[in-house]
Amino acid sequence: PVIRSQNSPVDYTPDAKFYKVEAILRPWRIQQVSSREKALLKMGIRGVTVSDVRGFGAQGGSTERHGGSEFSEDKFVAKVKMEIVVSKDQVEAVIDKIIEEARTGEIGDGKIFLVPVSDVIRVRTGERGEKAERMTGGRADMSVTALT
Ligand code: ATP
Ligand code: GLN
Repeated sequence: PVIRSQNSPVDYTPDAKFYKVEAILRPWRIQQVSSREKALLKMGIRGVTVSDVRGFGAQGGSTERHGGSEFSEDKFVAKVKMEIVVSKDQVEAVIDKIIEEARTGEIGDGKIFLVPVSDVIRVRTGERGEKAERMTGGRADMSVTALT
């Protein structure tokens, strides 16, 4: 069955025009989310920032334990952090797409944090707000029927 985020709120707190969807995912699933299937691009998400990070969660270091003290660095698992700033009305579609593409159902699939964003500034032009957040050919530019 398709897993979606449950009971999505109609509104988020605190309220903002833009939100950052910050997803910590398995490195080997990132191609599927972003480039291989072009899942995000196909839905008009063109601005994405990705970083290599290391984390500790329920998965802990259980799959890659090789001794060491309780807080030793080798318990951190390699993850990828994907940051996507979108307008409020695009948040749920992005979250569902990330779940669809990144989920394996096993412990360690990751987590998504939703962060309100106060403003967006395009460095090249100095534009702010909606003008800066919108991208040419982005989701807002796509016709409603083309959206999947
Ligand atoms: P422009 O051509 O409009 O001046 P630019 O080329 O200077 O823009 P972009 O390529 O749009 O800038 O973005 C630069 C970087 O900022 C991207 O590589 C990406 O990491 C990040 N980025 C841009 N938009 C977003 C977004 N909406 N969410 C997350 N990261 C973004
Ligand atoms: N919200 C932007 C748009 O519709 C796209 C944002 C993004 O690609 N992260 O053009």
